[in-house]
Amino acid sequence: MAEEKRIAGSVLSPGTVAGPALLAGAEQTIAIRRGIPAVERPAELAALSRAVEAATGELLALAGRVGKELGADKAEIFESHADILSDEEFRADLSRLVTEEGYSAASAVREATEAHAKDMEELDDEYFRARADDFRDIGHRVIEWIMRPAEEEASHIAKAGADCFPAVPSVVVSRTLSPGQTVAFHLPNVLAFVVSAGGANSHAAILARSLGIPAMVIPEAELATISNGTTLALNPEPGFLARDPGPETLAAVESERERESRRAERLKALLDLPAVTRCGRRIGLYANGGGMKDLAGISAARADGIGLFRTEFLFMEQESFPDEASQSAYYRRVLDTMGGRPVIFRLLDIGADKPLPYAPHPRENNPFLGWRGIRWLLDNPDVLISQLRAMLTASAETGRTVRIMVPMVCSRAEMTAVSDLVGNLKRETGGEALVGMMVETPAAAMTVRAFEGVSSFISVGSNDLTQYALAADRENELLGGLYSEFHPAVLSLMQKACADAKACGMETGVCGEFAASPEGAVYLAAMGFDELSASARALPAVKEAIRLIALEDARDLLRRALSLGSAAETRLLAREFLDRLAVSPGPGA
Ligand code: PEP
Ligand code: MG
Repeated sequence: MAEEKRIAGSVLSPGTVAGPALLAGAEQTIAIRRGIPAVERPAELAALSRAVEAATGELLALAGRVGKELGADKAEIFESHADILSDEEFRADLSRLVTEEGYSAASAVREATEAHAKDMEELDDEYFRARADDFRDIGHRVIEWIMRPAEEEASHIAKAGADCFPAVPSVVVSRTLSPGQTVAFHLPNVLAFVVSAGGANSHAAILARSLGIPAMVIPEAELATISNGTTLALNPEPGFLARDPGPETLAAVESERERESRRAERLKALLDLPAVTRCGRRIGLYANGGGMKDLAGISAARADGIGLFRTEFLFMEQESFPDEASQSAYYRRVLDTMGGRPVIFRLLDIGADKPLPYAPHPRENNPFLGWRGIRWLLDNPDVLISQLRAMLTASAETGRTVRIMVPMVCSRAEMTAVSDLVGNLKRETGGEALVGMMVETPAAAMTVRAFEGVSSFISVGSNDLTQYALAADRENELLGGLYSEFHPAVLSLMQKACADAKACGMETGVCGEFAASPEGAVYLAAMGFDELSASARALPAVKEAIRLIALEDARDLLRRALSLGSAAETRLLAREFLDRLAVSPGPGA
């Protein structure tokens, strides 16, 4: 029996669990072979054709299942991959590499897909650059088929189209994990994700947390030692992955799971209670959402409203800009579902890590410092105006005031431009709106007072604020602990933004992931924020923390934190404070 090995990692989404590994999309290392003797080429060609057919069948089966479970738009990626593989010219290219140039089947696939990917990368257009990854994905899939024994083929295709893939509860292991890949799994059978790339606030990590699925990032060299079926245990000791866990570790996992389920029961009891501190201050607990599928969870969590509705997901699910009528019907549905509770719609926030395939975008050296959020919107007034008009029409039709939030604000002129447009559109549509700003840049955090009169509220986007304040890319796992909202510099920016906004009579909220952790919530309550907004799943633990603290103690804690020198120290300070009150740890604690 293999011996247990403990691997140190970082927790992207909390939870303790054990189960068999399922390798998905793992990097293949194949040696490029050329100069295959002519007599062997027909066999390579046959293997190639069989794999191309099998991969196409698998993609169509996946498209069918995903289309049924998650909607036609989510199935498109698989359909488009199947189209590429069915293309006569593409197939002829592959065959030629084998028959004329003597490549092995796998090498021909790698050569052709890599060449197409490189061609795409050279085009000065975001849409085509994103297609480069499509070619690489297709290459991986076909090579996996080439390497798979023939007798397994039928069962693999059947599984891809079945309602259960993975067929048994598994820990999905993949070098990277994109939101698109995630939806291709049958989530009830995904025990956990283990990856080797991705930071704590990468969109994949946020997604895993909102789904309540444990996730961990471990070094790539360690990931490479895991095979299909290897037993893995996440967090038998916080921050560690056990490969081939022994009986003691499995028993520890079991008892931790029991503790977690007792905790879930305890939190359930708070569902109908308000988030009020021991000293009587009520803090609004709002939920973050990005699509219709989130609304049921938001209602079930009894959120006070939606503090961040990421409208870019509506745009990302389409093949071209959604027209005004369909946008307004969409916003109206959100408002209707939430009844009278407030909804903050964030304007389309694209650029950087969220490109819109159909919106042309030049290559940028520093996309996170580039053409994104309000900068892009003001340069594309048709898109901005149609989104604003759609929101105001939804407001007029429902009789509710919409809250419109502007992303990536740096200067008053940006907010003035949006407020002026909203003023005109209110008259035109009869709708009502409050316009507010996200505080995601140190520039905005330092100058909130300058926005008096053009911003009714602020909402701190701590995910981006942290990366800009610390010059640490939120997606880069190499930076490890460097990216942390607990850094005293970030705390101090948030504190200043909150105090200045209050002095100008603006409502104050936080919608970044910092608000999703009980430790973060203590500091935010101490700063005086009116509302915290986080994924619905995170709200119970945050509520528990708020109900146990007295603001005077939390303020004292904040004062001490601001005199410390590192994120690790301020986080620990809050953790110890909560431990004394017996509050459960938040994500990654
Ligand atoms: C943020 O930056 O904190 C935020 C909420 O926006 P997003 O995570 O979508 O960039
Ligand atoms: Mg942001």
